[in-house]
Amino acid sequence: MNVLITGASRGIGRAIAEKFASEGFNIIINYNKSKLEDVEKLKEYLENKYNIKVLCLKCDVSQEEEVKKLFYDIKKWCEKLDCIVNNAGIANDMPLDEKTSFDFLDVLKVNLLGTFLICKYGYKLIDEGSIINMSSNNAYGGYIESVDYDASKAGVIALTHDFAKYLSPKIRVNCLCPGWIDTDMNKNMFEEFREKEKNKILLKKFGEAKDIAEAVYFLATNQYINNAIIKVDGGYEN
Ligand code: NAP
Repeated sequence: MNVLITGASRGIGRAIAEKFASEGFNIIINYNKSKLEDVEKLKEYLENKYNIKVLCLKCDVSQEEEVKKLFYDIKKWCEKLDCIVNNAGIANDMPLDEKTSFDFLDVLKVNLLGTFLICKYGYKLIDEGSIINMSSNNAYGGYIESVDYDASKAGVIALTHDFAKYLSPKIRVNCLCPGWIDTDMNKNMFEEFREKEKNKILLKKFGEAKDIAEAVYFLATNQYINNAIIKVDGGYEN
């Protein structure tokens, strides 16, 4: 069994890679700006611990030619995929008046166009299996500082429904909406804001990357769940 996870060098993507590796999947780790030596260390760790095979491929998911090359390389390595996890994403929060069109489009390009391109070229390598897209709770409304991120994640939900319909019945397409998860993405958050957000979560704590990894694995392996949008947010109430 082979799975491609985009943005698997760090954070949630890395935890997803470890979860699938622990279940015996061979893993394709996609990364973009991470150092090759760090990604190779991750490959060595997963291969030694779980006795599986790992391929590391650098690709900016927002660049169509790079995405085509990614799948060319994957096809040579394993021919077919069982699952694709569209996890790569960026955020660039800032006051509304400072946000330029360039900033806005930059976030849309990675989060939304990137997910589209990976679906568009990736499904051809799946005979039967599933695609899991990473949206966010912010798809349902966040803050003005993250308006680009929030719009991109709402787009990922729409795209999930369209691909689920188009690819049925052979390929299931599902989507996860994590709430606050402790990763690099949130590491510069002001303590005061963090406390305020934590108090809106019924479980009164941020999630861990492994909480999302387990949900992704569930979506990948449950054979009747399709076209679903699932929140994993500890019960966040805005
Ligand atoms: P993270 O720690 O910042 O990691 C982001 C990952 O995405 C890295 O592996 C990075 O690779 C990769 N990436 C970024 N731009 C890329 C590009 N253009 N092409 C390929 N890979 C790219 O973020 P995270 O918190 O793990 O988030 C993972 C996903 O969950 C994202 O889609 C995010 O929006 C979503 N999410 C996160 C939270 C949260 O609270 N953390 C909540 C809801 C949803 P390099 O470092 O190699 O560039």
